[in-house]
Amino acid sequence: MHKIGDTLGPELIIKAYNTEKDIWGYCVIDNTQRGPGKGGIRMTPSVSEEEVCRLARAMTLKNSLADIPFGGAKSGICCDPKRMTPKEKKEVIQWFARALKPVLISKYIAGPDVNTTEKEMQHFVEAARNRKAATGKPSKLKGLPHELGSTGYGVAIACREALGYKGIDIKGARIAIEGFGNVGTFCFKFLSSWGAVIVAVSDSRGTIFNEKGLKYGDLMKVKRSTGSVSNATGEKLTSNEIFELGVDVLIPAALPDVIGEANVDRVKAKIIVEGANIPIREEYEFRLHKQGVLVIPDFVANAGGVISSYAEHKGMNEKKMFALVEEKITGSVTRLLSELSKEKRTPRDIAYDLALGGLTQFP
Ligand code: NAD
Repeated sequence: MHKIGDTLGPELIIKAYNTEKDIWGYCVIDNTQRGPGKGGIRMTPSVSEEEVCRLARAMTLKNSLADIPFGGAKSGICCDPKRMTPKEKKEVIQWFARALKPVLISKYIAGPDVNTTEKEMQHFVEAARNRKAATGKPSKLKGLPHELGSTGYGVAIACREALGYKGIDIKGARIAIEGFGNVGTFCFKFLSSWGAVIVAVSDSRGTIFNEKGLKYGDLMKVKRSTGSVSNATGEKLTSNEIFELGVDVLIPAALPDVIGEANVDRVKAKIIVEGANIPIREEYEFRLHKQGVLVIPDFVANAGGVISSYAEHKGMNEKKMFALVEEKITGSVTRLLSELSKEKRTPRDIAYDLALGGLTQFP
């Protein structure tokens, strides 16, 4: 079990139990020094209090590094939304909104995360009876939905900067992306539009590998018609094999803890850009650092979503939001890489100190 609790937080943990449906929900407000805790709600069968605590801490660091006046928080509802009807999913998210009412806006602002979308955010704010209780809402509610792809865009920018640092041309760079959801698809779209070659993509049913590069449109079609990208043209591998491919960049963009004891020594990528939250525990990031792999940590690379949340909170339009994501992610990655070129510490340690600096300015 990861140690929870230090001088930063968590400040408050709310555990809610749905007596009717036998479902637990967790909201962890890690740190509010910079403002109300901001973090999405995930609905997965495996989410635990510990996972939500780790994710909430990543949000504290992310908002501080991106210099956004939000604190860090996160929520998880332990259930399997794939086995629910739309009506049941709506009831669960609205139950959770009512349970969190005492802390909404003042201490916590929700957003989408794994298995929650603009639709759930609409249901959430309806139950909370306040539009400011969540970001990532549909545009008819003056939202900037995460379906615009702000996170994937930011991850793609972090990837572009990391490639530049390693002296690899983005045109022709070979990239593998784990997960073909919100983050993975937009990452794919932006990187391929800049000339990168996406050679592998995975989802829960497997990995598809194609030396010549995969096509976005083909993958979307195959995913829609067969339910999995692994049925696209190419070599079919298992979901786990994506982490061991000899590519320039590996982008984990789905699950937590995907690189660990079992596969860390088999990673051949030159760069890992963490699109997902907490895809690699610190000790394994350290091992990768020793192996010469450049790892851009989650709270640096995937801050695009929360930067978009801030843009939505401030009433910005889509164009201004994308410009802000580019400016902030380029700024954070450049600061990190410039420090990295001077010292031997891991990128996470360096980024952590940069983020901490942003917290001490907010007593
Ligand atoms: P999503 O629900 O849209 O997509 C998740 C994807 O993961 C799906 O394509 C699913 O098929 C795939 N997946 C599930 N099991 C898998 C497996 N075993 N192997 C490979 N793929 C598998 O979720 P998302 O919004 O894209 O989020 C992905 C990650 O990025 C999460 O860690 C999330 O916390 C993080 N993140 C998301 C955002 C955002 O704005 N969406 C922001 C910051 C961080």
